[in-house]
Amino acid sequence: MSDLKIESRLAQIGSVNEPATGAVNFPIYQATAFRHPRLGESTGFDYSRTKNPTRAVLEEAIADLERGDAGFACSSGMAALQTIFALFGQGDHLIVSLDLYGGTYRLLERVMSRFGVTATYVDTNDFDALEASCLPNTKAVLIETPTNPLMMITDIGAVAAWARKKQILTIVDNTLLTPFFQRPLELGADIVIHSASKYLGGHNDVLAGIIVTKGQSLSEQMAFLHNSIGAVLGPSDSYQLMRGMKTLALRMERHQYNALRIAEYLREHPQVEQVYYPALPDHPGYEVQNKQSSGNTGIFSFKMKNKRYIEPILRHIRLIAFAESLGGVESLMTYPAVQTHADIPPEIREKVGVDDRLLRFSVGIEHVDDLIQDLGRAIEAARREIEGE
Ligand SMILES: *Cc1c(COP(=O)(O)O)cnc(C)c1O
Repeated sequence: MSDLKIESRLAQIGSVNEPATGAVNFPIYQATAFRHPRLGESTGFDYSRTKNPTRAVLEEAIADLERGDAGFACSSGMAALQTIFALFGQGDHLIVSLDLYGGTYRLLERVMSRFGVTATYVDTNDFDALEASCLPNTKAVLIETPTNPLMMITDIGAVAAWARKKQILTIVDNTLLTPFFQRPLELGADIVIHSASKYLGGHNDVLAGIIVTKGQSLSEQMAFLHNSIGAVLGPSDSYQLMRGMKTLALRMERHQYNALRIAEYLREHPQVEQVYYPALPDHPGYEVQNKQSSGNTGIFSFKMKNKRYIEPILRHIRLIAFAESLGGVESLMTYPAVQTHADIPPEIREKVGVDDRLLRFSVGIEHVDDLIQDLGRAIEAARREIEGE
């Protein structure tokens, strides 16, 4: 199975593993417990928190797609992060991307801090900053690349090589690119985490998280934590997620195509100050992105020249929904300063550049002309309101 191209492996998730009937889709095993044949014997399944057949097919598939050794499906992306963070304890320190998903920041600062785990937030491209923040008790570096919402790119291979020398783990949040475009474990990372609620699921209809580990010892530790904490994905959601993943290749190609066209349109728009998208050649991360990934995410951010445009734009978009997620077939637009990044203190937000003129666009798979039309009309309506005042 593993020799096939990724498009084939995606389309065939769960298709060849059902021994009893040959069903082309793997069934939903809606059971918590499994009968033991006799004392000391097991079918391989005992209790669904530990292992469920439907979830196991998903976990094998994602481990293969990411080229890791073991996959773990969790009840959300945050549950996956919590499970990973349980590798650490009292006195441990983490280095974390400065421009970070707000929920991850909140989990570290308001939950993990109570368990004695501390974090320093740095630009993970700046090796002087990495060196300076690496303490004797540092245990891991957590990277998002591209970051959300500012789309900063980190050289995964370079950071992983540095981390290896320091004997600390490299953890990569691969939510925005998925294994279709980027495989951090092949570049030297130890752990990949996904909010599968985003591109992997792809339809804004299932909340899920994924962990993939490399190496036997780390995989065993993670299996222990996954089962011990118990924030596992249910069988129905596992099925729903696999159903979405089958079309990942097609969706990512279209997300990327649409996003580039719209980013180019906005870059020329007189009311727009800046577009943050690594597929644009003037983006500072363009070369590293091309080196380590085979494509680009469908998400980008843009900054309006005037803050007063934000409210009317969000009121006037129709096809594009003003809503707070990303990675689905439907286009969504978010205002990071008050939504996804509200839990990050304003001084850190501003240091990073998440200011109040920034909008994030998760470009769906609708026809690109319709999306440009909707956005153009909303900006024009905003301009008329502001100038008519
Ligand atoms: C959404 C998201 C998360 C959190 O995942 P949930 O599934 O919402 O719990 C983590 N990291 C990134 C980059 C995300 O976009």
